[in-house]
Amino acid sequence: LMSDKTWLRELKTESGNFPIEADAVRLRQILINLLGNAIKFTSEGSVTLTGDYEPFSETQYEINLRVTDTGIGITEEQGEKLFEAFTQADNKTTRHFGGTGLGLALSKKLAKAMGGDVSIDRSAQGSGTTFLIKLVVAKSIVSDETVQTAVPSKQVGAKSLTGWTVLVVDDSEDNRLLMKIMLGRQGATVHEAASGVEAIGKTRKSNYDVVLMDIQMPEMDGYETLAKLRSDNYKKPVFALTAHSMKEEKDRALAAGFSGHISKPVDRTAIVETLLTHARKLH
Ligand code: ADP
Repeated sequence: LMSDKTWLRELKTESGNFPIEADAVRLRQILINLLGNAIKFTSEGSVTLTGDYEPFSETQYEINLRVTDTGIGITEEQGEKLFEAFTQADNKTTRHFGGTGLGLALSKKLAKAMGGDVSIDRSAQGSGTTFLIKLVVAKSIVSDETVQTAVPSKQVGAKSLTGWTVLVVDDSEDNRLLMKIMLGRQGATVHEAASGVEAIGKTRKSNYDVVLMDIQMPEMDGYETLAKLRSDNYKKPVFALTAHSMKEEKDRALAAGFSGHISKPVDRTAIVETLLTHARKLH
């Protein structure tokens, strides 16, 4: 659910595509909040996202997305207050889990702004919680065919990066893991570096097909690392990973000599497409 394109594609069901038009930014934020909470408050078991839909009117669907976890659970009494800003289930929460108590209040606001709601569907202390996101969304006027061509599924097919070796440079272990899974599934061999210094060391030993580099890193940031790599005579493409998809950020990365720019959170389709587009240069 990382981009509008993916969103349209993810809503394929057994009975076929059902393209919708929804505010991807708001929806993504709600899902990030609820899935983030579910993972945070679950130490064993699973976190599951499921969805169903039904026609709501001639031009609309009602969709129900459920985030289910097997975590600590919420009592009825706590549940009544949690959607208020700055509220946590009990005063031990901040000490154990951190957080601000804003996520649920914000998620509910965002859902309401989209004509829907966020509520607790079911919960029992000790046996997990299900949050329900209910939304009324417009049926898309985009035809099935257009949706299909919007997603270059032939190009971004399985294992489209087979034979590639990629170095992911990011100080966040989670981000490195995510990229490793994402690119690994496409057949790439992924190596990791947790800092600019480590990246320089690794590029001296191996000639990667491509380096994906986080811009914001402590000590040596992406710009400085790139400059060092180039002065080290490293000639392979280096792509910038930035937390913003702002145009200035993109321009700055290109001006600094990055081969391209990929914005985080990284979307699988976008990243594979970007890399394949540069494939001629790379190989
Ligand atoms: P934060 O997570 O920053 O504290 P939220 O508004 O997202 O703020 O959540 C408020 C509180 O609701 C949390 O502190 C926690 O006590 C409770 N909560 C939210 N989601 C869950 C969940 N999936 N399981 C158990 N408790 C939860």
